[in-house]
Amino acid sequence: ATAQIGVTGLAVMGRNLARNLARNGFAVAVHNRSPERTRSLVAEHGDEGAFVPSESLADFVASLERPRAVIVMVKAGAPTDAVIDELVPLLEEGDIVVDCGNAHFADTRRREEALRGHGLHFVGTGVSGGEEGALRGPSIMPGGSAESYQKLGPIFEKIAAQVEGVPCCRHIGPDGAGHFVKMVHNGIEYADMQLIAEAYDLLRAGLSASPAEIAEIFREWNGGELESFLIEITADVLAHTDAATGKPFVDVVLDQAEQKGTGRWTVQSALDLGIPITGIAEATFARSLSGHADQRAAARRAFGDAGEKWQVEERETFVEDVRRALLASKIIAYAQGFDHIRAGSREYDWDIDLGGTATIWRGGCIIRARFLDRIREAYDAEPELPTLLVAPWFADQVGAGVPSWRRVVADAARAGVPTPAFSSSLAYFDALRAERLPAALIQGLRDNFGAHTYHRVDREGSFHTLWAGDRSEAEA
Ligand code: NDP
Repeated sequence: ATAQIGVTGLAVMGRNLARNLARNGFAVAVHNRSPERTRSLVAEHGDEGAFVPSESLADFVASLERPRAVIVMVKAGAPTDAVIDELVPLLEEGDIVVDCGNAHFADTRRREEALRGHGLHFVGTGVSGGEEGALRGPSIMPGGSAESYQKLGPIFEKIAAQVEGVPCCRHIGPDGAGHFVKMVHNGIEYADMQLIAEAYDLLRAGLSASPAEIAEIFREWNGGELESFLIEITADVLAHTDAATGKPFVDVVLDQAEQKGTGRWTVQSALDLGIPITGIAEATFARSLSGHADQRAAARRAFGDAGEKWQVEERETFVEDVRRALLASKIIAYAQGFDHIRAGSREYDWDIDLGGTATIWRGGCIIRARFLDRIREAYDAEPELPTLLVAPWFADQVGAGVPSWRRVVADAARAGVPTPAFSSSLAYFDALRAERLPAALIQGLRDNFGAHTYHRVDREGSFHTLWAGDRSEAEA
């Protein structure tokens, strides 16, 4: 046995992860169901490091030092279970199976429990950054036991992205914690992209500007608080011209956003935990809406396109308003995402370090941004922060942005430009800070039709009003 770690599943992600491991000096056992992929990896990249190829799973397992660490990088779902079932009889107590695929955290919890029963460690690990990240340094979110991290940590921290000498990898928590955090990361990515798309739409409508002009605005924004990978590539995509037609690229792309499902998982989990992640939910629904071409055509026929002619008077002011509204809405989306992680951590006893989580998203992954340092600082200063919104830096940014935010959302509503994430984020902010919410009326209605009872502001206890009788109040 000569390999320190193994990778089975050598499609684009597994292949690049194996190359990353080898380039960092680890001896890597490699295996794939169809041996052609294994052969081509070694033929094309064998000179990058020490690969130990096997064509059978048994030989692959036998080539690993003990305790063995096997990374499974195959299609998520049933294929992952099939590979685990094949691996288990070949492994021995204390060995580690790492699932780096995009598994649902509930599946990871189930698999972890089953493998624990065999004396094996199962480590569901979120890997972000796509194929480039896998090769050059991803953000890595491992769950599983603390014991398994003793073996995996030094390896993963070496191959992960590094920001200011700090690896974008840390042990998130037991069983499904890693895949849970990866799921919320993807949900936040949905919200971030929707907010950017709304900002672009507003700028385009309000300024009657070309995509190339708007690219310049995003480029400028990337020099400030909004600095991030997504803002940077927004400028790149908006500036791109379609070679076939000579039109802006963004105008020849069908306007129906697709999704692989992690946004939906995030929203479903938040509903279960009772956490209002309105930014992520609006973003997920906005993608669904864009795909309903028939309904969109029917509504357009019935009402016409909403777009009133809209030309803002003060260009500079408007651009700054949109920037501030984007930053404020983004802060809301991240605050909600971190609330969701905290709720998951409490529900499943994961003890996740929120500031530490922000740290490992600073590099390698899609939502990497300057902003994440602020999140880490906020949670490091006050781990029990009720919401990120009230941490000093965030409170300042949101507070300073409120007038802009209101102008943008009101202008958009008047002009008929849809801004679901901008406007629902503002509504969330106003609801959170309100002295009184109309939830009191909802409680009254529930008591009226269903005798569901209510609490009073002035006395302890549960009460019910005899609505159909003399309307006296009884203690329930
Ligand atoms: P795919 O999801 O396309 O999966 C292909 C791989 O799965 C091949 O190696 C294939 O083997 C193997 N496989 C499929 N079914 C079985 C089976 N029943 N038994 C054994 N092996 C099987 O590969 P990717 O590299 O794109 O992704 C791998 C994982 O990483 C997925 O879970 C994905 O969700 C996740 N991921 C992907 C990212 C990306 O950007 N693509 C980013 C982050 C995570 P064979 O060659 O024999 O067909």
